[in-house]
Amino acid sequence: MQIPDGGGAFRGLIITIDGPAGAGKSTIARRLAARFGLLNIDSGAMYRAVALWALREGVSLEDEARLEELARRAEIRLENNPPRILLNGEDVSEAIRAPEISEAASRISALPRVRRALVEKQRRLGERGGVVMEGRDIGSVVFPDAPLKIYLDASLRVRAERRLAELRQKGSDVSFEEVEREMRQRDLRDSTRADSPLVCPPGAVVVDSTNLTPEEVEEAIVALVRRLEAHGKEVSP
Ligand code: C5P
Repeated sequence: MQIPDGGGAFRGLIITIDGPAGAGKSTIARRLAARFGLLNIDSGAMYRAVALWALREGVSLEDEARLEELARRAEIRLENNPPRILLNGEDVSEAIRAPEISEAASRISALPRVRRALVEKQRRLGERGGVVMEGRDIGSVVFPDAPLKIYLDASLRVRAERRLAELRQKGSDVSFEEVEREMRQRDLRDSTRADSPLVCPPGAVVVDSTNLTPEEVEEAIVALVRRLEAHGKEVSP
């Protein structure tokens, strides 16, 4: 897909951002959305919402048929201003960030029928363009033809430090070792599952945020958007 010509600005643009936990995808997606007037879609929040619903309903995280049913029935709304996620009308923005939900989301996201249901929802949300969507398989599976695909990475140590700071701010007394262990396990499961593992999508530009501030990451990606705008075609690595 291409950016429409003329005054259409960024209406047709799709930016995909994939990468491991804690690489800074949400921060950068929020910034790009605000900068270019795009809708910001956090696909991980969708897996988290289904995981939350499953835990509340006492559904086994191995019961693929029931989990698919929940994924299809879930009415998920992603609002941007202010950022909120609603599950069946309830604001679950805080509840889905609990560590047990990270773990449960990672487990159910390995199930092909759950993925299929959520990928359909993600494609519907993004089909008209004007979106920045972040996750693990957005550039490889959900929108493989997006004109700008980013793979955002950072060292495990820095990613765990960032996540620790976030959790501490919320009053958690979790240790660095625990956060790092949980993150390593989740990365391993996300990148070794059979269906849509976390990969650097073909044609994606790799941005390593280990030694970059959010402002520097934003500027690097804005430069790519400007290049796209100038040339009107896909940006390759
Ligand atoms: O990005 P976030 O950490 O919120 O995602 C939670 C979990 O959802 C990830 O660990 C991953 O297992 C899963 N996920 C996925 N595909 C996506 C987005 C998230 O499998 N596109």
